[in-house]
Amino acid sequence: ESRPESMSSFWMPFTNNRDFKANPRLLVSAEGMYYKDVDGNTVLDGTAGLWCVPCGHAQPKIVAAVREMVGQLDFAPTFQMGHPAAFDLAEKLMDYTGRRFGHVFYTNSGSEAVDTALKMALAYHRARGEAGRTRLIGRERGYHGVGFGGISVGGIGGNRRTFGPLLPGVDHLPHTHNLEKNAYSRAEPEHGANLADELERIVALHDASTIAAVIVEPVAGSTGVLIPPKGYLKRLRELCTKHGILLIFDEVITGFGRLTTPFAFDYFGVEPDMVTCAKGLTNGMVPMGAVFTKQHIHDAFMDGPAGIELFHGYTYSGHPLACAAALATLEVFEEQKILDNAKGVQEYWTDAVHSLKGLPHVIDIRTIGLVAGIELAPIDGKPGARAFSAFKKAFADGVLIRTTGDIIALSPPLVLEKKHIDELFGKLATILKNLD
Ligand code: PMP
Repeated sequence: ESRPESMSSFWMPFTNNRDFKANPRLLVSAEGMYYKDVDGNTVLDGTAGLWCVPCGHAQPKIVAAVREMVGQLDFAPTFQMGHPAAFDLAEKLMDYTGRRFGHVFYTNSGSEAVDTALKMALAYHRARGEAGRTRLIGRERGYHGVGFGGISVGGIGGNRRTFGPLLPGVDHLPHTHNLEKNAYSRAEPEHGANLADELERIVALHDASTIAAVIVEPVAGSTGVLIPPKGYLKRLRELCTKHGILLIFDEVITGFGRLTTPFAFDYFGVEPDMVTCAKGLTNGMVPMGAVFTKQHIHDAFMDGPAGIELFHGYTYSGHPLACAAALATLEVFEEQKILDNAKGVQEYWTDAVHSLKGLPHVIDIRTIGLVAGIELAPIDGKPGARAFSAFKKAFADGVLIRTTGDIIALSPPLVLEKKHIDELFGKLATILKNLD
């Protein structure tokens, strides 16, 4: 009855359109760990929206900060001027990233952050007189948003084939997931360094002097929670340094506590040259992304290569509402000890994820921090159908999960308690037991 009449004619991004029309799932409100749907049902959020609400929904402090800002400063150009919250936020983000980066560049989404980082890499090399360094290296099954930069370096074959021609001169490292070696294992396999050595193969093919940057998600999220084998990221770092190649971590999912540390680079103890983030940056409340970059890279980018005038930035970069939301989010992280909570439930979470082992159709289980991928055996000829059926049943049963192919991905708000873990995995286990 409260469904919009236009629903038959519009298209929901990321939603299986035909199915959605037949079974509309409309969320109308949210608080803490729960959504409410249009029929008044309560839905436990096992996905933090779309990996983006670490502090829980409608977090009062963040809501209040956004409300206050909208009454004070609705918009301010960050082109040739600025506003105090944008600078305050930059300072706070510098602290939050341990002062490892000298500059933050604001965007409005993860996709824009990726494009910005790739362009910064190219401009940096050109400014240093290495204009030949234009090749970009991504990874199979990497996801870096939907801009042309992101789909070019991204490892989703369908996107690359359909929207080409894409950026020229892109290579892909092999993906890190090896089902045989990893199935059910709680310990990551040891072959990380060997796998990262694939970069040497690409370097040998094209010569290091042609390569600008490598971009990877530390843990690939959207393509199924793929955790790198031990030593992988460290070795990538060593090789990039050796060859003068910039290393970009796309932390749009892993940033802001997903692995129980501020960023994945903290978790793995590996320092990239640039980091992209979004989502949790504003607790999902206002669209915003960012690139953290080492000072010398930023300076080369902003000053521009000799004799060339550059122009890069977005109308809504550093929007006052986004800055207010992000500042409040960082305060909530500190005051409410969000990371401590995440660490506190981590073991309980890991046990709960692994308790699904042996249930029908479950062929692999992966978890790190507070993110998990549960891989189901596909139905012959219908890839993704089994997991999608689990998703629909879960929603009807009051739990929001997410699927990607035949993998169920879980990434709850970091404020979850043991009782939420019990509810989530209790319901999920029942669904899996009764899945066709
Ligand atoms: N990079 C990664 C690693 C992501 O997970 C996403 C979004 N899921 C993006 C980039 C794109 O972000 P956005 O959807 O905000 O453009």
